[in-house]
Amino acid sequence: MENVLKANTITLVVPVFNEEKAIPLFVEQLETSLFEINLKNSRKFKFQILFVNDGSTDASEFIIRNAKMTNAEIQLVSLSRNFGKERALFAGLTYALGDAVIPMDVDLQDPPEVIEQMLNKWSDGASIVNAKRISRSEDSWMKRTTATAFYRIFNFFAERPIPENVGDFRLLDRQVVDAVVQVGDKMRFNKEVFSWVGFTSEQVEFERPKRSDGTGKWSVWKLWNLALDGIFSSSTMPLRLWGYLGFLFSLLAFVYVIFVIVFTVVFGRSVPGYSSTIVMILFFGGLNLLSLGVLGEYIGRIFTEVRERPTFIVKSTFGLEEE
Ligand code: UDP
Ligand code: MG
Repeated sequence: MENVLKANTITLVVPVFNEEKAIPLFVEQLETSLFEINLKNSRKFKFQILFVNDGSTDASEFIIRNAKMTNAEIQLVSLSRNFGKERALFAGLTYALGDAVIPMDVDLQDPPEVIEQMLNKWSDGASIVNAKRISRSEDSWMKRTTATAFYRIFNFFAERPIPENVGDFRLLDRQVVDAVVQVGDKMRFNKEVFSWVGFTSEQVEFERPKRSDGTGKWSVWKLWNLALDGIFSSSTMPLRLWGYLGFLFSLLAFVYVIFVIVFTVVFGRSVPGYSSTIVMILFFGGLNLLSLGVLGEYIGRIFTEVRERPTFIVKSTFGLEEE
């Protein structure tokens, strides 16, 4: 299709945060896979590996700069501090120059072998190629169940559902990347943006291996916040839910009022009501606080968005200048 006519540079965007141990292994394995892709296929690709140093405090930056000595295709965008993976990835997408871009984790949990299948689907005309994890057996039970629950809840609320068990690892055509970069959300949840922009998508499947080295950088608290950010930044459904809930409880209250009136007027008895009163007060008090919390989530987000601070700040770039 039209892709065949395009120049064929592929940028792999790799956010890193304190990954000095994982980087050399990653570069080595990736190089081998990329070399094999070009060896096997008649269609040749030019690969660029764009690292985004998300404010690492270890030797990550030094190692990346060193790796460039032997791998000319390495590029680096260094952020001024740790902005978190979502923003780091967005920074990478902003700077990526390729005709297609593939976000990848540095810990080899996104296996380089899958890239070839992605490229094939892209050549066949897909604008987005999602990589779906068919097995998450390497993740803990806790992570799997919470992830499943998250996708359920998210997709229940979302305007556009996101595919289950597809991480950031996917191929994005230049057109898609341009669209994604235009979405200026400060509270970013990239997976939602990737599906929000539309375009045709295809899917390849892979088994997710264990982390190559070090430990996962996502604490339970960070994941919880990511889930909340995801839901609240992409849907106003929770707000509407309170409307429905309010309506339901008004209806129940109305029925109860009738019951109380009938009871008093017809039977001439007033109900001794301490327990029912206190239960009502506590229940509706709790409900009020909860709905205020939901409102707070949105107001907080409005605050963050209207300040219009940049999504990330770049300290330096390396290897991008000569392009
Ligand atoms: N990462 C980042 N900034 C952060 C946390 C993580 O750039 O604040 C990078 C990390 O170096 C890795 C990728 O995001 O390349 C995924 O991180 P991790 O493997 O810890 O997450 P998981 O695989 O558990 O989702
Ligand atoms: Mg990982």
